[in-house]
Amino acid sequence: GEFTSLPDVEPSRLVIERTQNPKKPPPPSGLVFGHTFTDHMLTIPWNASSGWGAPKIQPYGPLSLEPSATVFHYAQALFEGLKAYRDQNGKVTLFRPDMNMKRMNSSAKRIALPTFNGDHVIELIQELIRLDKHWIPAQPGYSLYIRPTLIGSQPALGIAPPNEALLFVICSPVGPYYPQGFKPVALYGTTEYTRASAGGIGAYKLGANYAPGVVAQKEAAKLGYVQNLWLHGPQHHITEVGTMNAFAVFKRSDGATELVTPPLDGIILPGVTRDSVLALARDHASGKAKVPELPENLVVSERSMTMKEVKDAAANGSLLEFFGTGTAAVISPVDRIGYLGEDVHIPTGPDGMGPVSRPIWKQLVGIQMGSVAHPWSVVV
Ligand code: PMP
Repeated sequence: GEFTSLPDVEPSRLVIERTQNPKKPPPPSGLVFGHTFTDHMLTIPWNASSGWGAPKIQPYGPLSLEPSATVFHYAQALFEGLKAYRDQNGKVTLFRPDMNMKRMNSSAKRIALPTFNGDHVIELIQELIRLDKHWIPAQPGYSLYIRPTLIGSQPALGIAPPNEALLFVICSPVGPYYPQGFKPVALYGTTEYTRASAGGIGAYKLGANYAPGVVAQKEAAKLGYVQNLWLHGPQHHITEVGTMNAFAVFKRSDGATELVTPPLDGIILPGVTRDSVLALARDHASGKAKVPELPENLVVSERSMTMKEVKDAAANGSLLEFFGTGTAAVISPVDRIGYLGEDVHIPTGPDGMGPVSRPIWKQLVGIQMGSVAHPWSVVV
């Protein structure tokens, strides 16, 4: 097509402008998620007539955009979230960055923003991290949260594919999600709002998906719950836990332990952590690669589940656990779901976790921290 013949993102064209005023990274104990940014950012401009321009690493600072820029009016914005870890061998690594680039391109396509060579953007992100890697605190559990973003920047009103766009990447040092060990959360099953619908945008990481979730989250918090649980349709199918993918574990009558998450049917965000949990569990179940301490007779299902199934299973003792998965917390155990005026109680172990989430969490964090060698961990 016309677009594919235009220049793609080209790492060899990178221009680096180092900051003249390097900041002193704050003490890690004072970090609030997403409030502190490193010295530099990556920007890559795009233009419909000339394609992707020269990438630039420059001091972190304000962007210059006209008030008419399409991002401000029509939510032409999408983003990603991944982390760089300082592993136990002293290496700085990224976890499956190819998955984030794949999802970012899929989001871009959905809102007619330009796509790009994901491997090339990973190379540029690695360059940015190398420059700012002293911002990754050395303490265990800390990491650098990377936020690639793509916006329509054409200064023109009118709903159309923008002829100018800007890809930028900023980095924020972050602390452990659970500094005092796992703390199971209480969810509120939201029946007043829906997150996504068939043919909509729920499967894409678009900015437009998140603003409407704030009210649902706020109302859940007002009722004393930590997060809201997104339900879908008249049967209240379970879809996502706030901004995490949802998993439940059932003890089946045939003795098997079933790990369940909703299928990627268009209303679920294809989480990188979700995919990783499924892959580890499936390789364990098939005998290809055992995960230490994971139950032997494990069945892995991508299938829909309703609130009724979870509530009934909790009542008859066959619900073993319920948890969310995402880059920020990896695994977030749930001990209670408020649903239609009642609380459904979910078992959690003394450490807050359950028989499936605990070994999977250990394996995932082992891969991220370098104690388990795995191709998912990419050295920066
Ligand atoms: N669902 C939603 C709605 C999210 O925003 C996120 C965070 N990106 C996830 C699930 C988890 O995705 P990941 O495992 O890639 O962080």
